[in-house]
Amino acid sequence: MHELPKQYDHRAAQARCRGLWDAARAWHAEPAVGRRVFSIVIPPPNVTGALHLGHALNNTLQDLLVRTRRMQGFLTLWMPGTDHAGIATQAVVERRLLEEEKLSRHDLGREALVARIWAWKEQYEKRILGQLRDLGASCDWERVRFTLDDQCAAAVRSAFYGLFRKGLVRRGKRLVNWDTFLQTAVSDDEVFHEQVKGHFWHIRYDVVDPRPGEPVSVTVATTRPETLLGDTAVAVHPSPAAALDVAEQALRAKRAAAPAKEQPGIDDELEELAARRRDLLPGLERLAAMARDGRQVRLPLLGRAIPLVADEWAKPEMGSGCVKITPAHDPNDYDVGRRRELPMVNILNPDGTLNAEAGPYAGLTIAKARTKVVADLEAAGQLVQVEDRLIELAHSDRSKTPIEPYLADQWFIRMDELAQPALDAVTDGRVRIVPERYARSYLDWLSEKRDWPVSRQLWWGHRIPIWHVGGVAEADLEKAFSGRDSVAWRADERGGWFVCSADESLGVDVVAGQPLERDPDVLDTWFSSALWPHSTLGWPARTAELAAFYPTSTLVTSRDILTLWVARMVIMGVFDTGEIPFREVYIHPKILDRYGETMSKSKGNGVDPVDVIDTLGADALRFALASMATETQDVRMPVDFQCPACGHLVEQTVQNRVKPRIDCPKCGKPFRTQWASVEADLALPRGPAVSERFESGRNFSNKLWNATRFVLMNLEGFTAGPLVGLDVATAPLEDRWLASRLASVTADVTRAIDDYRFAEAARLLYAFAWDEFCSAYLELCKSRLADAAQRDRAQGMLLLGLDTILRLLHPMMPFVTEEIWQHLREVAGGRRLPWDGESLPDSVMVASWPVPPSAWVDSVTEARFGTFLALVSAIREIRARQNVPPKTKVPVVIRAPRETVDLLAPLHAALESMAAAELTAVGPDVTASPSAATATAAGCDVFVDLADLVDVDAEIARLAKENEKTEGFIRAKRAKLETGTFAAKAPEAVVAKERAQLAELEAKLAKGVAALADLQARQTR
Ligand SMILES: [Zn+2]
Repeated sequence: MHELPKQYDHRAAQARCRGLWDAARAWHAEPAVGRRVFSIVIPPPNVTGALHLGHALNNTLQDLLVRTRRMQGFLTLWMPGTDHAGIATQAVVERRLLEEEKLSRHDLGREALVARIWAWKEQYEKRILGQLRDLGASCDWERVRFTLDDQCAAAVRSAFYGLFRKGLVRRGKRLVNWDTFLQTAVSDDEVFHEQVKGHFWHIRYDVVDPRPGEPVSVTVATTRPETLLGDTAVAVHPSPAAALDVAEQALRAKRAAAPAKEQPGIDDELEELAARRRDLLPGLERLAAMARDGRQVRLPLLGRAIPLVADEWAKPEMGSGCVKITPAHDPNDYDVGRRRELPMVNILNPDGTLNAEAGPYAGLTIAKARTKVVADLEAAGQLVQVEDRLIELAHSDRSKTPIEPYLADQWFIRMDELAQPALDAVTDGRVRIVPERYARSYLDWLSEKRDWPVSRQLWWGHRIPIWHVGGVAEADLEKAFSGRDSVAWRADERGGWFVCSADESLGVDVVAGQPLERDPDVLDTWFSSALWPHSTLGWPARTAELAAFYPTSTLVTSRDILTLWVARMVIMGVFDTGEIPFREVYIHPKILDRYGETMSKSKGNGVDPVDVIDTLGADALRFALASMATETQDVRMPVDFQCPACGHLVEQTVQNRVKPRIDCPKCGKPFRTQWASVEADLALPRGPAVSERFESGRNFSNKLWNATRFVLMNLEGFTAGPLVGLDVATAPLEDRWLASRLASVTADVTRAIDDYRFAEAARLLYAFAWDEFCSAYLELCKSRLADAAQRDRAQGMLLLGLDTILRLLHPMMPFVTEEIWQHLREVAGGRRLPWDGESLPDSVMVASWPVPPSAWVDSVTEARFGTFLALVSAIREIRARQNVPPKTKVPVVIRAPRETVDLLAPLHAALESMAAAELTAVGPDVTASPSAATATAAGCDVFVDLADLVDVDAEIARLAKENEKTEGFIRAKRAKLETGTFAAKAPEAVVAKERAQLAELEAKLAKGVAALADLQARQTR
């Protein structure tokens, strides 16, 4: 007899299964004709660091789809790889360089820095791929790609060249978010805002040659006084009176809709508006007229005359009603500058010091220039007032330094033509976004058709394949590149030519004696990710992979990168190949902590997936994550620290999650967290962050393991063979039920996976495998296993049930199912299921997905067992509530409608054995002892007579005391929730938690009161 070890050892199983799959290359897909194809590209993780829980979720769901399709017979390719993540990676390496060696990238030079980053990449790529394998991801490991490898680089050059040749790549000045530390433009999504203490400086600009009756000056306010050096205008609203009318109407409407307590505040605002009308409006009207007349004001300190312009950006209801305009250093001013055709004066060097445009301030840092400008304004008598202010300041996410809006020469891609096909692909349904609500943000973003600035002033990335050459004629270029269809050129408005090449080099350094100079910038990292689905398959070469696997089937991703990445993949996929890159996009939820905050390492509120894989197993992690993939936007996951000494769970809070060490409140021993840095803390054992969510997956693995132990122990003498001839009509009732459930559950789970309802698939499988197969069916077939005449058939059904569950669960929990499959192979390797081919595969990973015949479905039998199981659990609940020892038999009476009585008749024995009960009466009119405990289930009343089973007096005393204690807790909770200060001041999540606890206590009390009433009723009679 083959026996299973008592305990499931997930570590050993994970290593063994991975070895097995690798040896068989079961994850490899070779292009082949005539097969249904399922292909998917991994959202490439950044090589900046290790995988986090979001990656674990994303990849679990992909693997779930991939494993299912593979078992369903599709030729299945999951393309793995990582992203070079331009700025993110360079910033990490530069920061370390500075911290550890006190060197800047300029000390090292371009080549040496890039070499350092490659070394970093090798290290982290290895780690990330290792973690994906630990998770069980069945990627095609022979096809690992990197966004910066030679194949992807060729695709990047080809795609960029194609855009250049069509005139879709342009060069021009653009206002960008400038990171003065890294000295590069960063995109909006790489910027975060933080409140800092600052000032509002009110500065007077004198009017040039004021006429009698005209204002002699205007006052403007700014938080960045040094930017006045780049001012090119002062703006006033073109029709201030009308603008004040609009502002007043808006306030009146707000007042009408506001609750009474807010109205006085709005009245104050209205009054202030009236005062403005009286005091400021006449002056603003004059200034608007002067602006129309082309008048000027004088820029303080530099003395330049700059125009007064009329523009709606100036708000008469705010400040002085006038604003200074610095088009090269503020996004709103930039828009004004474009509208009013103002000069744009850039006063900054790339490193954040002031340039020659700043006159006497040239060479100063921004901070020093600010101090000097303010002092000089004051000395000149132009500084009117200084106000303290809290300012929302933009910071670079990578360097954590303030962002300077900055006008820079940038390559950008024109979107007007490119965006339309990508819009069409979603509106006409060729690309389906699931859940559908996310299609809106995709369409909204694309329909703005905003240019895509693609230059990054970095060294790590795809260098822009453009060279500049001056002093030559077009004929010289034609001669130099004749016969090359991979080289194109375009005139530079400022003289010379831009030459673009799809090849790695131009092959020449000079044209007609003039040097070719390559653009030093690299491309936005999203440019190479936009090509990911076709570049990984070999485009622009016409590879067999591209023909077989493109367009891909599904993309699984998070909503954060729907526009940055998904939309751009559609744009570039269609542009390069003429075809959409994928047919469906599934957007999965985000995992938040118990307070609704996103998890991040820097906050210290995450769970490290590696910890979970190590302590509870990859399957536990995967099962929990799949269970959390509901159709809601976000899922909250409570996180605890686990005390390494005693195992006690310490709730992770905003306070303790940033501490380097925590003292366990249970055993008192200290443990360290991720923040430990001093030696004394580092010497402590680590308390991993865990979540109870993962325990159920671990328990589920153990339940399956134990069920398998039971099955194997009962397989003795079983002669393995085809299990194809199941004759449902003549099978015993419980077999008909199992067969029917296998058919229904398979259909439901398959549909749930097809529809991306992963949580539903997990719920269905858990409920069926645990409650119905492991708990009910195994119990029901015990007597037949003991009967030589029926044993064979019962063994066959046990195998059918277990094997089908293993296959259905494999995509979600690959390791435990494979481990069990291997054990089953030793005992019943010759078995075949109705949906198997000639022989049983060596691995469940490549076994056929179950397709039970629809003839197995028997809804009457399913209903019968549904009632039966509901009654079993009702009896069990009464037993638990009254503390009846597990082995003690209880007398049970069931009052049920006639048809249910008939339905239950064949199951009496089963009911008695599963609920440890003795059925004394079942019928529509039965009566029970008045002292019996009761419950209702499935339309029946269940009575359990406990008269002789419990010491009634002792039990009454215990329950009464227990209830009293619960009441005390409830009173305290209510008092806390009802005091105004707590409900008003505590964070919403904390209040919600208190309420949930109160509800739990109330439910507990209700149960206790019912149980007490049961007993007291018995005592009085
Ligand atoms: Zn402890």
